[in-house]
Amino acid sequence: MAQKEEATQAEAAAAPASQNGEEDLDDLADPEKLKELIQLPPFEIVKGERLPVNFFKFQFRNVEYSSGRNKTFLCYVVEVQSKGGQVQASRGYLEDEHAAAHAEEAFFNSVLPAFDPALRYNVTWYVSSSPCAACADRIIKTLGKTKNLRLLILVGRLFMWEEPEIQAALRKLKEAGCRLRIMKPQDFEYVWQNFVEQEEGESKAFEPWEDIQENFLYYEDKLADILK
Ligand SMILES: [Zn+2]
Repeated sequence: MAQKEEATQAEAAAAPASQNGEEDLDDLADPEKLKELIQLPPFEIVKGERLPVNFFKFQFRNVEYSSGRNKTFLCYVVEVQSKGGQVQASRGYLEDEHAAAHAEEAFFNSVLPAFDPALRYNVTWYVSSSPCAACADRIIKTLGKTKNLRLLILVGRLFMWEEPEIQAALRKLKEAGCRLRIMKPQDFEYVWQNFVEQEEGESKAFEPWEDIQENFLYYEDKLADILK
């Protein structure tokens, strides 16, 4: 009963001009979907636990030239050192449209505020490509004022690594204590198993693409050159 009322109210508030099809009404009866509909303006950050298979296959592929890949996918694992010495984990992914906030910034805006200043956090990001100069700057500033945060960033590709501005930003990241690595084939497999939607009941084995190892080595070389 309560759900129904909620749905009716929100229906009126959220979509006065919607087509009001049956599908819309179904969505509105589900409180989680309802929240999404209300809180997610178009072209905003997408948050979730598992990303669709095709997104992973296209966006995370560690190709040398990343044409057409105009989004950043960021999968995160948060480990908390709690008072009892136990480690808890939360995880999810963020996706950006480059027109809006970048995924890195979205993490700081939407995940970081929930951190307890009294606890210590180890955060690992698996990102489709390395940060742009503005995001690198934001990461450095955030690490500077968030002393209980340790960040490891694993990237599938290096973003515009030939640009001196980007190279300088990556070096500054390292100086700020941010660990940066290129994703190995095993890291892609980890993302596949933990962050990609799987068929119901069975998880499909990860199928590495042909040049995965070669491209990893290519980017690892470039990063070592930049950081040395
Ligand atoms: Zn960025």
